[in-house]
Amino acid sequence: MKTLLVASALTLVGSCATLSHKEKLQNVKDSIVFDEIATIKTYANTITSEELSTHVYRFSSDEFEGRRAGEVGHHKASNYIKEYYISQDIGSPLGANNYYQLIPESYFSDDIKSSQNVVAYIKGEVYPDEVLIISAHSDHEGFTEEAIYNGADDNGSGTAAVLEMAQAFKIAKDQGYAPKRSIMFVHFTGEEINLTGSRFYAKHPIFSLEDTVANLNIDMIGRVDDVHEDNPNYVYIIGADRLSTELHYISEAANDNFTNLELDYRLNSNNDPNQYYTRSDHYNFAQEGVPVIFYFNGTHDDYHEPTDTADKLNYPLLQKRTQLIFSTAWYIANSDKRLEVDLAY
Ligand SMILES: [Zn+2]
Repeated sequence: MKTLLVASALTLVGSCATLSHKEKLQNVKDSIVFDEIATIKTYANTITSEELSTHVYRFSSDEFEGRRAGEVGHHKASNYIKEYYISQDIGSPLGANNYYQLIPESYFSDDIKSSQNVVAYIKGEVYPDEVLIISAHSDHEGFTEEAIYNGADDNGSGTAAVLEMAQAFKIAKDQGYAPKRSIMFVHFTGEEINLTGSRFYAKHPIFSLEDTVANLNIDMIGRVDDVHEDNPNYVYIIGADRLSTELHYISEAANDNFTNLELDYRLNSNNDPNQYYTRSDHYNFAQEGVPVIFYFNGTHDDYHEPTDTADKLNYPLLQKRTQLIFSTAWYIANSDKRLEVDLAY
């Protein structure tokens, strides 16, 4: 009995080894099936351009003074995020009303003062110890004597997307569709200062990085770059296929089923001169072996200028891109099997 089992296992391994690269990819692709399409659509549809726009206008208003990490404006912005989670009855993994992961001044370079990542979460019902992280940085460039850097696209757009997804997952949970895995929503500080908030997080994770199944990170998804002027129905996908073949195909299947955007991979190339894969918070997870996707609209004339204001965003597009990320997250959080890390074939 035992011997036979070993023999058949060996046969299996042998036959797998003969699969071509293309066949392996096809097998992974075929293994991804979205159940509950109508259910996912119901909750994706609670993410609306109106609510996204309300968040972006407020979050990028002068009230928050350009949200420089460690400054008063950023503390106020952090409080806005925290108050939103409290209003939606979404808790924190750090305990009651403790939504701040504090980062001491000593951790920052230059003269940046202490600051905080803001965290909230929805506990998984089947695999509560496994966590999917959905993130966006909350800080920006602050202000000068001449102008406030409102940072509406960078990263009011990502912040609004995370808040709206959290609300959608909470509504689903309240109606009997709690996620199988935990989902943590993280608003990193100090992204504009060498990715400091996410670097701190990777050294002081709230859930161990071994239990972190993926990081979906959003940094600028409210605008259209020059390349897509004539076809704004797109988003750049960066990093999805670097560590997990499965993640890449989940993202594609989510798009096929729900959003039909053009998923543009040109900035994902290893040879991309801009190396965007290394340039936002997800990279601190990727370096630890956690599969990531970085969602991005590309740069524009207002990038890191005081003219990055809320009136210039395309809100229906922001809605669609957020719904893509939501449906991808839904699959990762609810699939029977944890996302596989194969370091991409
Ligand atoms: Zn940014």
